[in-house]
Amino acid sequence: MARYRGPVCRMCRVEREKLFLKGERCFTSKCAIERREGTPGQHGKKRSKFSEYKTQLREKQKVKRIYGLGEKQFRANFVKSAKTKGVTGTEMLLSLERRLDNMVYRIGFGTSRNHSRQVVKHGMVLVNGKRVNIPSYKVSVGDVIEIREKSKTGIALKAAMEFAQSRSIPEWITLDREAMRGTVNALPSREQLTQPINEQLIVELYSK
Ligand code: SF4
Repeated sequence: MARYRGPVCRMCRVEREKLFLKGERCFTSKCAIERREGTPGQHGKKRSKFSEYKTQLREKQKVKRIYGLGEKQFRANFVKSAKTKGVTGTEMLLSLERRLDNMVYRIGFGTSRNHSRQVVKHGMVLVNGKRVNIPSYKVSVGDVIEIREKSKTGIALKAAMEFAQSRSIPEWITLDREAMRGTVNALPSREQLTQPINEQLIVELYSK
């Protein structure tokens, strides 16, 4: 399926909750969820009851949007997670969390996951001293993620790091702000992922 190229805030309005896709704006009164009631479209203000299938589908779409993945990529990630020994839903979320673009966002080198993906794609990130420009690269415990020397003076990066100070850095990451270097000390437990996600609904959807 083609990548969605419409208004970003519309995705939050469809899902009826904040997905934090636009960085700083999401924390201001300009957020579309704060300003506009209901879902987009002519009948947006009506709150229709979801069928079981639609509830599962919406949950899957929501998580795809949060992590910025297309259907093919998201499904492939799910299939891999289902083959592991752990609980499929939790493994799927952990696998999404391990993506380099997500870690860059968590550390605070990007204002949103989308911005972080650009930071990675533009080759600004080193993992254990080596340049990695693949957003889906899976980070492991102990990996050191840093901004390469040449990119450290970038205005957008500095602004992102300043903004990141207002949202907390997760406890499984250590950040050296001066050096622009983050270390992944552990992978998060399910309880540490606080965004409201019901991964079981996605497991049920894909198990049909
Ligand atoms: Fe979603 Fe952020 Fe737009 Fe608000 S500002 S609707 S949280 S993307």
